[in-house]
Amino acid sequence: MSSSPVSIIIGGASGIGLATAHELSGTGDLVVIADVNAAAAAERAGEIGGQSVSAAVDVTSEESVSALFDHVSAEYGKPQSVVNCAGLTIPGAISDLSLADWNTTIAVCQTGTFLTLKYASRHILDGGSIVTIASLNGRQPAKGMAAYCAAKAAVLMLTEVAALELGDRDVRVNAISPGLVDTPLVAGLSLVPGMLEDYHENTPLGRSGKPEEIAAMVAFLLSDKAAWITGAAFDVNGGAHTRRYPDLLKHLAAMS
Ligand code: NAD
Repeated sequence: MSSSPVSIIIGGASGIGLATAHELSGTGDLVVIADVNAAAAAERAGEIGGQSVSAAVDVTSEESVSALFDHVSAEYGKPQSVVNCAGLTIPGAISDLSLADWNTTIAVCQTGTFLTLKYASRHILDGGSIVTIASLNGRQPAKGMAAYCAAKAAVLMLTEVAALELGDRDVRVNAISPGLVDTPLVAGLSLVPGMLEDYHENTPLGRSGKPEEIAAMVAFLLSDKAAWITGAAFDVNGGAHTRRYPDLLKHLAAMS
């Protein structure tokens, strides 16, 4: 059992989740980096050191998510904080998108959020806090990203319902909607000529985000400074929600 607050970061082996692990380990939490890529999670926990540990989880599997929360509660103690950063995106116009690609995106982004909230709500301490990672695309449509947009819109609503259901226990549930953040997830997008420039032109602050800029908001929402905030979604995107999303299909077509 740990005497420090226990934080579980799902999808913590890369990008926004990894930046969050660094941020929270700096506050003295015991940080559990949980990821489907168990080897990467173990390596990242070793690099962070201190009170960082790793665990394997696949958010698309109820057995796996249930086992993660059982393991953490038994080994380190019930979590004070849970963050779900697991996600992926598979591009494709609706007319071309395969059912398999649709199902994969929904399974990781939407069902994964449901399962995280389900088992987090069973294990988290009263007074704890949960952060889900939605997306700018949860409210801003993007051509070629139907499954991702739909799944992230669902994440926003799941977050509100969970906040409603857990308020009696003083458990807060909030979402962050990042814009384009420089992580391995969007490395492919960055290779599409014109895509990044288009995003930057349609962003008042004129640039992509850094994972640390999302992690800072996660840490704020998990902290007592956010004690009166629940069921809310926060745009952290350089202002991109005020304009339009780049036309991915147009940029992809220009490549061929
Ligand atoms: P990333 O690819 O760097 O990290 C995602 C992590 O999730 C990886 O470590 C991956 O192994 C893990 N993961 C994937 N499937 C999983 C599964 N089934 N079970 C458990 N873990 C799984 O991506 P990122 O950019 O850090 O994305 C983090 C979150 O932020 C995602 O939900 C993503 O949709 C969201 N987001 C990212 C951006 C962006 O521009 N990077 C923008 C908006 C929203």
